[in-house]
Amino acid sequence: MANEEYQGHQGIGHKSLLRSDALYQYILETSVYPREHECMKELRELTAKHPLNEMSTSVDEAHFINMLMKLMNAKNTMEIGVYTGYSLLATALALPHHGKILAIDINRDDYEIGLPIIKKAGVAHKIEFKEGPALPILDQMNDDVGRLGAFDFIFVDADKNNYLNYHERLIKLIKVGGVIGYDNTLWNGSVVAPSDARLPNYIRYSKDFMIEFNKALAADHRVEISQLSVGDGITLCRRVS
Ligand code: SAM
Ligand code: CA
Repeated sequence: MANEEYQGHQGIGHKSLLRSDALYQYILETSVYPREHECMKELRELTAKHPLNEMSTSVDEAHFINMLMKLMNAKNTMEIGVYTGYSLLATALALPHHGKILAIDINRDDYEIGLPIIKKAGVAHKIEFKEGPALPILDQMNDDVGRLGAFDFIFVDADKNNYLNYHERLIKLIKVGGVIGYDNTLWNGSVVAPSDARLPNYIRYSKDFMIEFNKALAADHRVEISQLSVGDGITLCRRVS
């Protein structure tokens, strides 16, 4: 890349908010790439060729999600926002053989791009893919008593403006002690950008929603929260009541 184009950690699509590119690279090269599953690498490299590749979860965040699933002994999970399936594969690889992921996305085509690699990894049987907008699917699940409190972990990575609406439904679907992970809660750092800052349209579009969402979570005593600065920020919410 030409020198004048290089934006380092400030570039849109850069996969970390860490203020040092060298330190981020150090983390990837020392602790992440050497332990990356070969199918995760294959899917990451395939996704990198896709025009919307900046939507994909960062390699270090996917590594973290994989570890979290094992620490939690998660078995029944949900993901909202699949794209080519990078975070989905990280989750599927961590679940036990009989583990389950309900994967929801309005677009099946991108999921199909990654599916052959998910199959090759031997974990496709854990995934039930549902195509459609998440909100009505969640409403339907809220009406199904068997689904209430049934999920150990839910990863939310779609349609940021609806996070609060998702939260009101997901809080009933996650079990007490289970965790909902909301992705991109630092929204490219824009949550602290001055009101006149020049921002890409899609960042500006959801900035205020994300700020309101972060405030609402902090005030929600049904959950304990931990906001991590991995990737673009992920807020873990553990249901306590
Ligand atoms: N977790 C994915 C990964 O690691 O590659 C990235 C997900 S990407 C940021 C967001 C996805 O949400 C897109 O694939 C998009 O089709 C999907 N999406 C957008 N609006 C949605 C909605 N209302 N309901 C369900 N999925 C939606
Ligand atoms: Ca994301």
